[in-house]
Amino acid sequence: MKLDLQNNLKKYRRPFLIAGPCSVESEDQVMAVAKSISEQHQPALLRGGIWKPRTRPDSFEGVGAIGLPWLVNAGKEVGIPVTTEVANAKHVEAALSAGVDVLWLGARTTVNPFAVQEIADAIQGTEITVMVKNPINPDLMLWVGAFERFQKAGINDLVAIHRGFSVYKHPKYRNVPNWEIPIALMEEMPEIPLICDPSHISGRRDGLLNVAQKAMDLNFAGLMIETHSNPDKAWSDAQQQITPEQLKLLMNQLILRKASIQEEGIDFIELQRKKIAEIDDQLFELMKQRMQIAREVGDYKREKNITILQTEHWKKVIEQRLAKAEELELSIDFLRSVLDAIHQESIRHQTKVMNPGMR
Ligand code: PEP
Ligand code: MN
Repeated sequence: MKLDLQNNLKKYRRPFLIAGPCSVESEDQVMAVAKSISEQHQPALLRGGIWKPRTRPDSFEGVGAIGLPWLVNAGKEVGIPVTTEVANAKHVEAALSAGVDVLWLGARTTVNPFAVQEIADAIQGTEITVMVKNPINPDLMLWVGAFERFQKAGINDLVAIHRGFSVYKHPKYRNVPNWEIPIALMEEMPEIPLICDPSHISGRRDGLLNVAQKAMDLNFAGLMIETHSNPDKAWSDAQQQITPEQLKLLMNQLILRKASIQEEGIDFIELQRKKIAEIDDQLFELMKQRMQIAREVGDYKREKNITILQTEHWKKVIEQRLAKAEELELSIDFLRSVLDAIHQESIRHQTKVMNPGMR
């Protein structure tokens, strides 16, 4: 099925919602959850994992092809198109012949260009919509490359799903969002609608709303949220699934903001943006002056044959500058990354001064 989300977003309620269980577990389970989701908050698509890419081999790896008609029938019963994850050509063939409407690629598949190509080849010539989750590692071009493989195969109805990036024992997220990557994807491929999957980013129920709200504030087109009638008893991803009632509550709590600035606010925003541009100019002028001084220090170091990096001094600079973070109402992480960037640029200038022939 072609969703044509790019042109039809207005047809769907914003946010475009994909709901349903992490895994299809039984015929009754998927039918029951489909009915109760559709009573609570009609989504645009019903999701259900048939083949589950689990980290450990002794986990539940999905019911397999036997579950495809269960998912398709549940969708038909409530009048919602269905989607499942495919990871190879066999999955594609089985899903398409069972009547699955939309396919998605999981993060562990996007990471592998061989698998993406195999899937692109398998669906070539169809009109189906394909949703591609980001790769598990924060590599924008791997994500872009997956879309390009589909486009080359003539599949143009593509949707991106941001599900965060793997991380070891993070206190807050199961997969860190690295929002700058989906933002960069919007710049790189503006034609591809972007959906957020707060379930896999947060990994826990109480984190879903914050992630979903952030995605809405960044103007994402929609959300994919794992929904189960009895989340604690789910066969996969139990901690992050919510009931259809909780889904309704979450959707009602979301604040949806306008995507563009209204007529009456334009003058004010333009003025503020002008002030910001002036401050940026001043910051850059100061940077220029700062680098001039760094070059003078470079001249001295060359004369006296002293290394560029002076670790003890650099440690002191960081300590002193970061101590001001609170007073400046700036985060330590932000100040640290600004300092690191300035330091790198200083080193580049001194390297040029001290080694005139070197690039
Ligand atoms: C899923 O959606 O259940 C899933 C396995 O997701 P991901 O590929 O994001 O890990
Ligand atoms: Mn899951």
